[in-house]
Amino acid sequence: MSQPDTQKKSPFATGSIIRIAGPLVVAEGLGKVGMYDVVQVGGARLVGEVIRLTGKQATIQIYEHTEGLRVGEPVISSGGPFMVELGPGLLGSVFDGIQRPLPTLYKQHGAFAARGSVAPSLERGKLWDFEPQVRIGDRVSSGDVVGIVATASHLEYRILVPPNISGIIEQIAGGQYHLEDVIAKVGDGETFYPLTLMQRWPARHSRPHGGKLGPVAPLLTGQRIIDSFFPLAKGGTAIIPGGFGTGKTVLEQTFAKWVDADVVIYVGCGERGNEMADVLEKFPQLSDPHTGGRLIDRTVLVANTSNMPVAARETSIYTGITIAEYFRDMGYDVALMADSTSRWAEALREVSARLEEMPGEEGYPAYLLSRLAEFYGRGGRFRCLGNDDRVGSITLIGAVSPPGGDLSEPMTQNSLRVTGVFWGLDSDLANRRHFPAIDWAKSYSRYELDHWFQQEVAEDWSEQNLRARALLQREEEIQEIVQLIGVDALSEKDRGTLAVGRLLREDFLRQSAFSEDAFCSLKKAYWMLKVILKFSERLSQALERGIPLKWALVPELLEQMSNMREWQPGEVPRQPEELLERIESAFSRTDAFPGHDAPQGTN
Ligand code: ADP
Repeated sequence: MSQPDTQKKSPFATGSIIRIAGPLVVAEGLGKVGMYDVVQVGGARLVGEVIRLTGKQATIQIYEHTEGLRVGEPVISSGGPFMVELGPGLLGSVFDGIQRPLPTLYKQHGAFAARGSVAPSLERGKLWDFEPQVRIGDRVSSGDVVGIVATASHLEYRILVPPNISGIIEQIAGGQYHLEDVIAKVGDGETFYPLTLMQRWPARHSRPHGGKLGPVAPLLTGQRIIDSFFPLAKGGTAIIPGGFGTGKTVLEQTFAKWVDADVVIYVGCGERGNEMADVLEKFPQLSDPHTGGRLIDRTVLVANTSNMPVAARETSIYTGITIAEYFRDMGYDVALMADSTSRWAEALREVSARLEEMPGEEGYPAYLLSRLAEFYGRGGRFRCLGNDDRVGSITLIGAVSPPGGDLSEPMTQNSLRVTGVFWGLDSDLANRRHFPAIDWAKSYSRYELDHWFQQEVAEDWSEQNLRARALLQREEEIQEIVQLIGVDALSEKDRGTLAVGRLLREDFLRQSAFSEDAFCSLKKAYWMLKVILKFSERLSQALERGIPLKWALVPELLEQMSNMREWQPGEVPRQPEELLERIESAFSRTDAFPGHDAPQGTN
């Protein structure tokens, strides 16, 4: 029986500090310390990670502020890399970048957790009900489900045979266990491997899987512009670049609330400590719109606080994705939101500069692209290890904060190269309070999901969306002409297109995260567009027949269309069908009196 490659090396080699430069410390005497091994630095036992080894010297990046640290203080190696604790208790937790439980730290030290604070990531004192799914004598290997731990929500923790372990179940029993109690033994007759409810995994290494699969279904967000025009696949990757105040955080938080994933991991990089205290207070009170349960029960929050320096931000993203992989391995659809990945890149840049590496574009290290590719490469739809054909997915959504909103900067450009969806936020739209401020002319999705939508929603789903997008494009062209020659010089037809463009923008694309309309079902989105496009079609016909635009823009119809946002799920498709009839009847009256009579309302 082989052992997992996650076993720690012999721990506790002690060296001492010979140099300190900001968040970096150089130590000597650490013996056989490895790259990325975790160390405790100084009397304050600050947590750090080895990021360079030269001769007998180890350069360490420290996750906490280094003031007061002195040359000569001890450095103790833990003998292994930074490991994420994976097990029951993760859901509903709030961690900092190195997986310390924030509520516990707050209780101990207040909003600004003390340096060197140590608390186990997952609570050790709690008992969990373990229900075996295999029997003594069964042959198992990596990824097989040996049992489950139910939770108060619809999710269950599936307890899996860890990677690189296989053999016969020699012992297993249901009952109540702590995280580190032995729940089963897997052996080969001579030696055995004890299974516990909790596993550890090195954050910087992806967890093994049974192969990557292509995307087949969208991750629904409830945002019309996204689900209709730029859909993201389950297992896909997306970025949201946008300047300050364009709505990145609101959008990421809207996703955290509404996406149809089983598990949501929210990584907040660079947030202030008091903001996090706010999240800790408010988030547990939100209800899950899909299940009616508590939103926190399907969520894991990873958040950096103000007392953690830049280096910790880099780690938080790996902590988050390792937790995502743990749930993926169980066969769940996981969505990870990172706000903002630029903070992470800034950490890379700062550390690289201190290491005096050759800078690439705008000071970012040359390996920025490969680090991004590695991170986004951990997303996807996967066949899980194990004997039951489970499939799990990780969808990654990264906010990017380009300085000054300039999308040509390296972080945005490199992220674009390794992701499948681009939702570009536009500051003009945000200034006009058009939210979500996603630029429909520049954004794109590379995922081919038409087939899914045509089957699940309507045969003409894609065709409708294409027509709407063509109209928006035409509207933009006409707007450019208006800039040059003014609106008076436009033909009635072009003015008609402007009117329809306005409907599409104001009534369809606009969607406030703080209203009843915050989540829109696919059916509702489909029917809203159907109504606007029907109106557009009848309007063009009327204009071709010489009906003046001002007659055709029946105020009552316009008002009813602007009320479409308030449709409740139960009213679809009854409400839209009534509105389509009203449009028909209003225009048939107009048609009856071409050029002679104004339509008299719709009733
Ligand atoms: P960023 O993270 O890009 O700096 P925020 O997400 O904090 O921007 O958004 C700034 C403000 O814009 C919010 O406080 C809110 O008033 C408004 N806003 C952003 N997105 C939306 C939305 N989808 N619906 C309604 N208002 C929004």
